[in-house]
Formats: sequence, C-alpha cells, structure tokens
Amino acid sequence: MAIATINPATGDTVETFEPHDSAEVERRIAEAYQAAQTLRSTSYAQRAEWMHATADLLEADVDRAAAMITLEMGKPVAQSRGEVLKCAKNIRFYADNAESFLAGEELADPSAVAASSAGTVWQPLGVVLAVMPWNYPLWQVIRFAAPALMAGNTGLLKHASNVPQSAMYLDELFERGGFPSGSFRTLLIGSAEVAAVIEDRRVKAVTLTGSEPAGRSVASTAGREIKKAVLELGGSDPFIVMPSADLEAASTTAVKARISNNGQSCIAGKRFIIHTDVYDQFVGLFVDKMKALVVGDPMDEATDIGPLATASGRTDVADLVDDAVAKGAELLTGGSAPDQPGWFYEPTVLAGLSDDMRIVMEETFGPVASVYKVADREEAVRVANQTTFGLSSAVWSNEEAEQDWFVANLDAGAVFLNGMTVSYPELPFGGVKDSGYGRELAAAGIREFCNLKTVWKA
Ligand code: NAP
Repeated sequence: MAIATINPATGDTVETFEPHDSAEVERRIAEAYQAAQTLRSTSYAQRAEWMHATADLLEADVDRAAAMITLEMGKPVAQSRGEVLKCAKNIRFYADNAESFLAGEELADPSAVAASSAGTVWQPLGVVLAVMPWNYPLWQVIRFAAPALMAGNTGLLKHASNVPQSAMYLDELFERGGFPSGSFRTLLIGSAEVAAVIEDRRVKAVTLTGSEPAGRSVASTAGREIKKAVLELGGSDPFIVMPSADLEAASTTAVKARISNNGQSCIAGKRFIIHTDVYDQFVGLFVDKMKALVVGDPMDEATDIGPLATASGRTDVADLVDDAVAKGAELLTGGSAPDQPGWFYEPTVLAGLSDDMRIVMEETFGPVASVYKVADREEAVRVANQTTFGLSSAVWSNEEAEQDWFVANLDAGAVFLNGMTVSYPELPFGGVKDSGYGRELAAAGIREFCNLKTVWKA
C-alpha cells in the first residue's frame, strides 16, 4: 500500500511519502536504541517535565492537528479536536502518576524468604515497536507512547499507511517537548517490513492495535523471537437493553456509540441486543435518531458522520450489508452509499438477522447497526458472547442484581452499565478472545513494557 494522505471526503491524493529505505530504518532504530540507554537513567521528575511540555504543545496545536486528522481519515473535526485534547490529558496523567504506578514493593516479613530485605522494582525494557491503526491517528499512538516514555522506554512507530502526516507529526512531538533525540521515532515502512523490525535484537517488545489478521502476524513473529507483545484487536461489542432501562437515554447513547468516529471505533456498540418487551419502542427511537444524522463534509461543524477512511473500508461495510440483505435481513434505514465523491456510507440499521449472515460474526467498521430481539437475559448473553471477539460491552438495566449478573457472564474486557464504552486514562483497556491480550492505560498499561525485577538480599 502506498504511504499517502488521501482525503476520504473527496478521494483526492494530497501528499505521497517516500518509504524509508533500509539505511534510514537502521539509522532510526539505532537512534531509538541509543536514546533508551539515556532515558532509563533520567528521573521521573525530568521525564514528567518533558511530558507536560509535550502536552502544552499538543494543546497549542489543537486546531492544526485536528484539521490534519480530519484530512487524513475523515472524522468530524470537532471529534478530532477532542482526540487531540484527550492525548494531552493522557500525557499529563502518566506524567503525574508513572512514578507511583512503578514504585517498588518491599516484603513486610523478609525472614519468610530468608532475607534481610526482599521486594520488587519496575525497570524499562528498552526499545518498543508500536504498530498502529488510522482510526485515532494520534490517540492510539499516545496511549502507548506516554506510559512507555514515562517508564523510561523509547518508542518506534509503524503507523498505518494512510496517515503519514500524523505519523511524521508524532515523530517530532516528544523531541519538541524536550525528550532526548531518538526517544520516539517514526518508521515510514509497509507492513511487510514489520517482522524484520521485531526480529532486530535491539527491539525488546511490540504492541499492535489493529485488525485480527495483523495481530496474528505480529504475534507470530514476537512469539518466535520470545518478545513481549500486547494486542488490541477488533471488536463487535454488544449493547444490551433490558426492560428496566431508560429507553430515551439508551437510544440516544446507542446512536452515539455506533456512529462516533464515523462508526470506525473498535469499542463501538455494533450489535444492539434488545429485550422483546421494549424492542419495538427502543428500535423506533433508535431508527428515528439514526435517520436524523447529518452525513457530509467532516470539516463542517454541523456534520455528524463524515466519510469512511478508505475506499476498501467502505467496500467491506457495503459487502456485509449486501450479504445480510440478500439473505433476508430487513433494512430499517440506510443500506447504500450516497452518489457523491468521497467514501460516504449512510447510517444503516439492520434487523431480522440469521446465523448464515456474515455480519452476525464479523466486525462492521462503519455506521451500520444490527439489532437483535431476545426473550430474556440468558438469550441476551448467548447472542452477546457468540462472536469470536471480546473487547467491551454495554448493558442498560436499572436492576442491580441484573447488572451484576451481566458483569459476571459477559465475555469481554469491560462492561459499561447504563452508558457506552469510552477509554479513560484512569481505566485499563483491552480485550479477551480474538480481541487480543494485554492492557493499555491506567497502571496496568505502563507495567506491560517493564521488567518486574525481584531483589533479594541476604
Ligand atoms: P490493520 O489493517 O490491521 O492495520 C493496523 C496496522 O497494522 C497498520 O499500521 C497496518 O499497516 C499494520 N499491518 C497490517 N497488516 C499487517 C501485518 N500483516 N503485519 C504487520 N503489520 C500489519 O487495521 P486498520 O484497518 O488500520 O484498523 C482497523 C482495525 O483495528 C479494526 O479491526 C479495529 O477494531 C481495530 N482497532 C482496535 C483497537 C483496540 O484498542 N482494540 C483500537 C482501534 C482499532 P498498513 O496500514 O501499512 O497496512
């Protein structure tokens, strides 16, 4: 795939980038390796100062960076501004909390292990490679980079080929904030070059956010090389509505959960599983609100849904909808691409789904919702758990015992009760099953790329 910025709202190629050749890749890995030797011996206070300066830069850049995100992947510009500010927040969060998250522990009774003192310290691993997707071009990278650099690691970024401007913006960002040169470096390479970087002896670990096939490929290489890997992969999250729910609030949140980021979020509610007693009422509200959305120019503040990020992404979504309709699904709204330039797709709701339809098991990465009618909570969980994914989930119920039952029985990395899934710096984020393994954010995220070293003293 060419490394290029192509405006998804028009289909026009804006800028093409020459991939880094092997000499340039070598130079950048060497720089990151060298910087890792320096960074690990700097203090938390020093790194926190550089982090806060980096957050200041992002906040000052907010309009320029937001326009760049929208140009490259098409989300409405207000959401791009939100993404930039969330990055700054996450950077400050790790600047302020890394030292306590990585504080060593002392055994209260060292005589139990025949020592005068015993405990643990957390230490950085060194150079970590991040393979990242285009859907949140800055946020996905920052949520890896902020904890990694605060822990004293350095980062190499292989970004998605359709967001090179964002990739090069990130290449400079931490250095502009004061970090030593080489602390964070972008590699402009294709996916075929990733394995060689993981295999490089100076690279100690890898994190990938992206699709299941990319995850399998990166995890195989990391496994062969016995290197730590974190995988944040796809999802087909259930959004369950039970009879006690506030249907007005649930339907408003359901629309937001499905169409945020033009429907291209791993943690979007994608399958809406509705109890039969409230099915007609909920679906009526939901479909009306989906129909009211404004699809159009993502630079226009009034737009709710911009184009999908790539032509192939739109084809994938259209194919899933067409397959379901051909096999008898009912289209409650939408179902086609508007006749205009750019890769737009109408907000769509499908009902009457059966197990032979691809959309039942596969991830829909666009503004397309599937609705399911279920008789009771057991059937809701059976439908929710039937895909191979297990990223997050949402349940709307005002009965506490029922909430607890869903928390106990959903196969997912998170359950959001009476809300939609959102990532917060303060909360661990990650999945089970084919949605991957390992965690980002919170204390768990910063510890993934550290060595928990045991220290025993006679
Ligand atoms: P993708 O095609 O898997 O690409 C993600 C990254 O992996 C890109 O940098 C891509 O490079 C690279 N890549 C692709 N195939 C590879 C391979 N065989 N070996 C090494 N690297 C490879 O995913 P996407 O279409 O950009 O993003 C959408 C997917 O990401 C969805 O499934 C979504 O659910 C998931 N996602 C998950 C999370 C999470 O936190 N769990 C968050 C966001 C998105 P190229 O661009 O050069 O191909």
